[in-house]
Amino acid sequence: MSSTSPTVVGRLAPSPTGRLHLGHARSFLLAWWSARAAGGRVLLRIEDLDQERAREQWTAAIVEDLTWLGLDWDGAVELQSEHLDTVDLALEQLVGAGRVYPCVCTRREVREAASAPHDEVPGQASIEPVYPGTCRGRFGTRAEAEAITGRQAVLRFLVEGAAGTARSQASIAGSTGPVGATAVDFHDELQGPQSIDLALHGGDFVVSRKGGLPAYQLAVVEADARAGVTEVLRGDDLLVSTARQLLLQRALGLPSPRWLHVPLVQDPEGERLAKRTGGLSLAELREAGLEPERVVAWVAASAGMSPGRRGTAAERIGDFDVDRLPREPVRLDPRAFG
Ligand SMILES: [Zn+2]
Repeated sequence: MSSTSPTVVGRLAPSPTGRLHLGHARSFLLAWWSARAAGGRVLLRIEDLDQERAREQWTAAIVEDLTWLGLDWDGAVELQSEHLDTVDLALEQLVGAGRVYPCVCTRREVREAASAPHDEVPGQASIEPVYPGTCRGRFGTRAEAEAITGRQAVLRFLVEGAAGTARSQASIAGSTGPVGATAVDFHDELQGPQSIDLALHGGDFVVSRKGGLPAYQLAVVEADARAGVTEVLRGDDLLVSTARQLLLQRALGLPSPRWLHVPLVQDPEGERLAKRTGGLSLAELREAGLEPERVVAWVAASAGMSPGRRGTAAERIGDFDVDRLPREPVRLDPRAFG
């Protein structure tokens, strides 16, 4: 790498909501290899803003699992919840630019008012209803929305602004719904050109939750920008999230990283490997006496790397080649680890 090349910065961003399973191990190992093979840095950020599900105990467990797998990271483990102030600054920027508006709808109201069912993105199991734009133009500020309705308000990002023009509060007031929203186009290094119409995928999305805690999309965008992340390799269940994050990056004037979305690991029946799948958590495999190199070897083979070789995650960095990553879902037969 020449001294003028920008340094690659990758990141691992697990949510502390349970033990890591082999599907996570694959995504994280590939993300780690991709950054390390380029001589880059890797950050570990715990996405702990979902207070209903995030548990501190899982953070320690995830660090233990990743360490066992042979992964390391540069700098301290970052907890997203420790950076709420800077996320608030980003939110203020969106408020000031008229890109968000207050919404007092309950989940149930959104569900009941939701229009036609959204498209299915291949590999995407989202069942999120489309927000119909009920609160567009209803309120000037969050405080006003809460005073008038006696309800707590969220702030939603106006997806219609996707074309890139800063929209005034007046133009939000004149909007009637997510009709005419533009598709978000981006290039995925693995899956090629993507075009995702957020009007069909949830519509205007929440960036600040009731009570003021930032929502996932905004927190991720802020954290990636603050850390200078240049590439994001993750599961393709997050393609719609990527479209939202791109809109936020554009609205905030932030650069977008290089995107690589890998198809998820499926069980032998073709179902997405979920956290409930017994016996395939890294902790259970470890307790059963499995060596981490077995997991590394499986991920390497599934990524088109020379199957004959053995070694730790670090020893196999040089074998990684992004061009050999398969574009299809990977099936996992649990007996491979029996
Ligand atoms: Zn609403």
